[in-house]
Amino acid sequence: MKSTDSPHFLVIGSGIAGLFFALKAAKHGSVTIVTKDKVDNAATTYAQGGIAAALGAWDNPEKHKVDTLVAGAGLCDETAVDILVRDGIKRVQELIDMGMPFTRDGAGKLHFGREGGHGEHRVLHAHDHTGRSVESFLLDRVAKEQNIRLLTNYCVVELATEHHLKNRENSKTVLGAYVLDEKSNQIELFPADFTILATGGAGRVYPLTTNPPVSTGDGIALAYRAGCRIRNMEFFQFHPTALAIRGKKPPGTPTFLITEAMRGEGAILKNPKTGRAFMQDYHEMLDLAPRDIVARAIDAELKRDGLDYVWLDISHCDAAFIQEHFPLIYGTLKDEYNIDMTQEPIPVLPAVHYTCGGVMVDYDGQTDLARLYAIGEVASTGVHGGNRLASNSLLEGIVFAERALVHIAQNLNETEVLQTRSLQAALTLWDHTNTKNPEEWVLVSHDFKEIRSLMWDYVGIVRSTLRLERALRRIDVIYGEIIDFYNRTKISRDLLELRNLALVAQLTIRSALQRKESRGLHFMTDYPEHREPSRADTILGPAHFLARRAEFIK
Ligand SMILES: Cc1cc2nc3c(=O)[nH]c(=O)nc-3n(C[C@H](O)[C@H](O)[C@H](O)COP(=O)(O)OP(=O)(O)OC[C@H]3O[C@@H](n4cnc5c(N)ncnc54)[C@H](O)[C@@H]3O)c2cc1C
Repeated sequence: MKSTDSPHFLVIGSGIAGLFFALKAAKHGSVTIVTKDKVDNAATTYAQGGIAAALGAWDNPEKHKVDTLVAGAGLCDETAVDILVRDGIKRVQELIDMGMPFTRDGAGKLHFGREGGHGEHRVLHAHDHTGRSVESFLLDRVAKEQNIRLLTNYCVVELATEHHLKNRENSKTVLGAYVLDEKSNQIELFPADFTILATGGAGRVYPLTTNPPVSTGDGIALAYRAGCRIRNMEFFQFHPTALAIRGKKPPGTPTFLITEAMRGEGAILKNPKTGRAFMQDYHEMLDLAPRDIVARAIDAELKRDGLDYVWLDISHCDAAFIQEHFPLIYGTLKDEYNIDMTQEPIPVLPAVHYTCGGVMVDYDGQTDLARLYAIGEVASTGVHGGNRLASNSLLEGIVFAERALVHIAQNLNETEVLQTRSLQAALTLWDHTNTKNPEEWVLVSHDFKEIRSLMWDYVGIVRSTLRLERALRRIDVIYGEIIDFYNRTKISRDLLELRNLALVAQLTIRSALQRKESRGLHFMTDYPEHREPSRADTILGPAHFLARRAEFIK
């Protein structure tokens, strides 16, 4: 293609998936990355444990695949997992070759950690701040690319589809996005030949979460409203070991994570009332059982003994070893929470950590809409099934970013790009008519609180039909009120996030109600076992949206 006709990519999000894609796409065309906060405010920055890849001489992709399938509780897409573990080796090797500073031993060999559910040591890491290192490593490279423009504090409001052309009802092709520039408070149209959702997860739909404030499920809501199918939203992963105390942190600060790698290095969960290690009562892999089992075990201990937390104890290990392996956690606990983990146990409890479901995509990251791809945590590729294996998500981000780019590059067609450009030129601008500044902003913060507490109380680690039906009745009312408020009010980022979060909560509850069995992260007291007839994916699609929309939007 000639350079004037070379494609323009709009990448939404600046975590590992968006940055990795942008770096590759810059070789084929121009790239704009929009991101709604500071550039590194992304779940990626918070990742501690590492990135899994069967690169050790003792390991192979088949073993990695088996562990992933076991964790996924019978619901993974085997082909997607196969792609993850095989392509994953190449992508991680690429990061190493690019110079990513993974931790090495004294002899200069890569150090492989082990985490829950992994049968081998296969987790590459940069001490216990892998995410921070990967994020800044990729950002450095993005800054050097002339073909990439990076815009911070730009929050996507809606995907631009054929629906936004005059006299068109359908929305089969995505033509870019409407984006709120938070500095000028204007909504701008960003036309694009290819739009890439890399907006991360939705952990903020719960009050206790390790996710940063940006994880409000925007990409899932944007795609769903535009007409994409959303898959398996009932599977929110609770990380078993988040710090149980908040210290003097302001509200909204993510709950501090204590990486699973610590249990990989010998830390043991104990009941603070008895001092006894309890995982032997729950699973043969003890403290390294899959996350859903460990989270439920902790939940059971908390409820049975009326505890506020359990202990995670690594104080029996050598102090120098602990400080060297976990410098971020050791320093944070000591300086900010006055806990010396070399001497005393750490109080922990489960917190929401990862969105296993998301925008349904094929093996190349393609969504149901032409020219819209979804990569990273926002996507449902099928690799996580009913429960994500630790350290598979950074991997998923780079594997499917690459595949999306390769798919676009291989199918690039000049005539189609030019046709899309003429559609882009006909897009209407955003219409603010009849909106005004809000009378009562406080309603927004009340709605956030209400949604989060109903998700925690009724859609938590242990669920039942009764609780879920109650949650659905409440979210329907709240969502209806939010849509009404949204239609009358000038747009702000808070309001956009609230609307998206409410939709994600509704999708989660509806999905959970559809799965009449317990599987992976979804545990129902009235259906405590796997039930083969209910094993299929839960999919909510545009037909469902249109039916619901009629109820709320007049
Ligand atoms: C505390 C913690 C520890 C973790 N540890 C590990 C680990 O050790 N190994 C592992 O594999 N995984 C880990 N994970 C999970 C992993 O970090 C994430 O799944 C992964 O980083 C997601 O990457 P992403 O690029 O898809 O999304 P993110 O990194 O979350 O980036 C999303 C981006 O999209 C932007 N965005 C969102 N909505 C909009 C919008 N409307 N408009 C514009 N921009 C928007 C955000 O601002 C952000 O820049 C951890 C997660 C957490 C929270």
